[in-house]
Amino acid sequence: MPPANWFRCWRAPEQNARRGQKRGRLPQVVMMELGCPRCLAVNPIPGDRLGDDPKCESCGAPLLPAEPVPLTADSFDSFIRHAGLPVLVEFWAEGCGPCEMMLPIFDAVAAEMKGRVRFARLDAAAHPQVPMRHHLRGIPSLILFRDGTEVARTTGAMEAHALRRWLASQGIQQAKVQ
Ligand code: ZN
Repeated sequence: MPPANWFRCWRAPEQNARRGQKRGRLPQVVMMELGCPRCLAVNPIPGDRLGDDPKCESCGAPLLPAEPVPLTADSFDSFIRHAGLPVLVEFWAEGCGPCEMMLPIFDAVAAEMKGRVRFARLDAAAHPQVPMRHHLRGIPSLILFRDGTEVARTTGAMEAHALRRWLASQGIQQAKVQ
């Protein structure tokens, strides 16, 4: 029988090697700062925990709800600036036929893209200063923001497949079904 400490010494390098391998395999965890859709508090969340339904530390609201976040003229800038992820904002208004046609499509694609891009919605008739500031020509319009800056926009109602394709052209893909 080898002495017990000999056994431990023999095991240790192997375990260390295995741990090292694991460390090498894990992607570096980036801390993300996600603004709360309800109280706008900025919550630091490890990038690999986005799929765990993180909650706001201040108010307890889900930070990444499956449905689009309703924005107002007051919350718009803060939410866009502290989104942490790309944000896709739908500008719409009640009584606009194409807008109303697109609402459920936007909702459905929002649920699919949860954790990859944050979906939000702003009533352009109730908060006209925001679409005016962004020189919007018509509704429904979508604007994609990254780090608080507009990177792409599209105007006119879209089917879900067209919206997915447009997002893919912006480098945003739906998570692969496991
Ligand atoms: Zn909150």
